[in-house]
Amino acid sequence: MEKVKELYEGKAKKVYTTDDPELYIVSYKDDATAFDGQKKGTIADKGIVNNTMSNIIFALIEEAGVPTHFVKQLSDRETLVKAVTIFPLEVIIRNVAAGHFSSRYGVDEGTPLARPALEFSYKRDDLGDPLMNDDHVLALGLATEAELATVRKYAHKVNEVMGAFFLDKGLKLIDFKIEFGKLSDGTIILADEVSPDTCRLWDVETNEKMDKDRFRRDLGKVEETYQEVLNRVKK
Ligand code: UDP
Repeated sequence: MEKVKELYEGKAKKVYTTDDPELYIVSYKDDATAFDGQKKGTIADKGIVNNTMSNIIFALIEEAGVPTHFVKQLSDRETLVKAVTIFPLEVIIRNVAAGHFSSRYGVDEGTPLARPALEFSYKRDDLGDPLMNDDHVLALGLATEAELATVRKYAHKVNEVMGAFFLDKGLKLIDFKIEFGKLSDGTIILADEVSPDTCRLWDVETNEKMDKDRFRRDLGKVEETYQEVLNRVKK
């Protein structure tokens, strides 16, 4: 399958059309941004790590009964995926307080939550991706009630599958962001990526941050950490 035309360039990926209207090719870049694009940089070979890791995890998620866009890895940085219309929602699940949850609710980072918390943000860079509840999603017509129920069910399943998988690799899944899309027939599937860019992962033994927070917070060993996470995921 060949790339035909660049459809979209995002912060971390490019998306291309193919000869088949139902299939796209995603190409992962090394570009990194944080704080609504205010901080910019590159993380060498991040594109390779994120592409490979995402595909391994999407295959697992698919096995667990949640459909995903993953079709086939084409190269280090490129993957053939199902074409979807993305819901303009960031679906975040949190198991342990960190990041914006900690600052918003005044809870120390690392505090375990009584139960996983799912939250939605409106994917609107111009508005700073505001937090929204189900009513807001429905009022704006971003999804139907049935679609929201499916998204919630799938997101919690993804949390269970990934949480167990990472724990086996010596990593605690603190929180993560996923995105869902719709096929032309309306089927909802998991799309976008799952990687150290989109998950918070802490080493089980040392609580060391093994994710994009190393870049966001200038903690050093950024490239090494991405490689280490990939190595663990591959084992
Ligand atoms: N996240 C993401 N993209 C975003 C915002 C958040 O992938 O645009 C991920 C982030 O890596 C973390 C989780 O979602 O794993 C929760 O992030 P939070 O709301 O705490 O915001 P952050 O502090 O990461 O900006």
